[in-house]
Amino acid sequence: MNINNITARQILDSRGNPTVEAEVWCEGNIFGRASVPSGASTGTHEAHELRDKGDAFGGNGVLHAIKNIETEIKDVLLGVPADDQFKIDELMIELDGTPNKSRLGANAILAVSLAAAHAAARVRQLPLYKHINDIAEQPPMSIPVPMLNLLNGGQHALRSADFQEYMVMPIGVDSYAKAIQIGSEIFQTLKQKLIADGFSATVGDEGGFAPTVASNTEMLDRLQEACTTAGHTPGETVVFALDVAASEFFSSECYRLKTEKRALKPTDMIEYLSIIAKKYPVVSIEDGLAQDDWASWTRLTEKLPHVQLVGDDLLVTNLERLEKAIKLKAGNAILIKLNQIGTLSETIKAITTAKAHGWRTIVSHRSGETEDVTIAHLAVGTGADQIKTGSVSRGERTAKHNELIRIEDSDTELKFAQFTQSHIT
Ligand code: PGA
Ligand code: ZN
Repeated sequence: MNINNITARQILDSRGNPTVEAEVWCEGNIFGRASVPSGASTGTHEAHELRDKGDAFGGNGVLHAIKNIETEIKDVLLGVPADDQFKIDELMIELDGTPNKSRLGANAILAVSLAAAHAAARVRQLPLYKHINDIAEQPPMSIPVPMLNLLNGGQHALRSADFQEYMVMPIGVDSYAKAIQIGSEIFQTLKQKLIADGFSATVGDEGGFAPTVASNTEMLDRLQEACTTAGHTPGETVVFALDVAASEFFSSECYRLKTEKRALKPTDMIEYLSIIAKKYPVVSIEDGLAQDDWASWTRLTEKLPHVQLVGDDLLVTNLERLEKAIKLKAGNAILIKLNQIGTLSETIKAITTAKAHGWRTIVSHRSGETEDVTIAHLAVGTGADQIKTGSVSRGERTAKHNELIRIEDSDTELKFAQFTQSHIT
């Protein structure tokens, strides 16, 4: 199944910006296709997304990345077996030659890395998650618990709360389909109540509502109320997760909460998060602190050991940063985003390492997405604990949910991964 051609094109993401789509072709006219997402609240330590600058698309074009795929990358990968993921990724990393994939672009490299996996799965006549499971050396597979981002703030909904994501996680159900049903019931109830209270019910980048609220906790109050009205008990059948995305409002040693018109020192921010975790059924906090505030992360982890503390901007799916966090006991879970690191095999290594140290793994989309459903397969194939792929609205978000419903429906051996707090080490 040697690669005999690679093509690429510029397509649109869900925010109307251009992004890279690649196709890897094998002998027998079989091909795999993948496209790459793009973040808004990107961590400073992420791999480099190559943009053209210039006039077209306000400088956001990706034609240089496309050209890199169709020239240099294609040249080194022709003849390489499509199922040798580690070799494909290594060759591209070597060819790029920079620590953050800035020469060829992580967007160019990732599109090809994923398209190769899709091609190999097709040649092997396997669903992608089974092929990924083989690449990852066959860890137990499962269907991840969804974290549904029903209220959007921060960089994803500019006139809303400071915290970026307010998520519900249905618990006590035994399937992804039922979890999505609960999420949808809460979503529709939330919408009616927002309209009744005079708020806009338009959605943010990830499909959650984005009301202009007076405080960050008002979002949690509204979520709690909607859950109860919809017949789901907060703390019993649904629990909450936050993505604070604190790097976005950390400057000059302070966490600056615009909505609440106050600035908190790191110790006060830790206190604020502790109060929230006590008052509400919040079981998971992502990026509660800024991406380089390591000492505060360690203190937060000491203070809230029973809460899932997820490093996104802190860890950027990067093995070195993950190893540092494990050593410093800074957090206990990692958010996994393919485009933060730029290849499938490096992403799988981060997941494997996290699991080996008892850390939770959460596969994630980006706020700028395409219809590509690779992350649904990545979550199943690696047996990730959870998946974060937005709300229950907007096609680029439901594409992933629907793919997981399909996988669950077609493979009865796969069990739904339950969320329990006692798993946290
Ligand atoms: P991003 O947001 O894709 O804009 O970075 C998602 C997240 O922070 O988890
Ligand atoms: Zn995040």
